[in-house]
Amino acid sequence: MPVKKTAAPKKSATAAKKAAPKKKAAPKKRAAANASDVGSSMGFTPFQEKKGEEYMGERMRQHFRDILQAWKRELMEEVDRTVHHMQDDAANFPDPNDRATQEEEFSLELRTRDRERKLIKKIDESLETIEKGDYGYCESCGIEIGVRRLEARPTATLCIDCKTLDEIREKQRG
Ligand SMILES: [Zn+2]
Repeated sequence: MPVKKTAAPKKSATAAKKAAPKKKAAPKKRAAANASDVGSSMGFTPFQEKKGEEYMGERMRQHFRDILQAWKRELMEEVDRTVHHMQDDAANFPDPNDRATQEEEFSLELRTRDRERKLIKKIDESLETIEKGDYGYCESCGIEIGVRRLEARPTATLCIDCKTLDEIREKQRG
């Protein structure tokens, strides 16, 4: 009888352990996709410019406001999930090897969360510039950043030329 009692929970614990890493891989991939490629993960309709429509007129501003807010919501949900996931999993692994793996995963998740927080801050800044009327213009040279580039990178503050120049300088410094 006691043998049967201890055998049962062990079996289910092993099963849970085996299943866990598979489940964990999915949110991480999603988070990475969110951070690098907004357009594909959110599925908004690309902006259709009307003939002679003013750049960053109210309709265009609303388009990017929607994109930024949807992106922010998605990121905040992601942060929530990570926190809950870490709370749920904490102290669930008595085996030292499992603990080491878990610690690695946690530190990875913390870094992901940190990146998400920074991104949320950038999104907030972009939303502010929409209200100020500065959104969509290059911070460095003042040129229009362009609808397509902004749809691909809604938090972009530099036009593609200034961004490229910036990256070249960065490389030379580093
Ligand atoms: Zn520029």
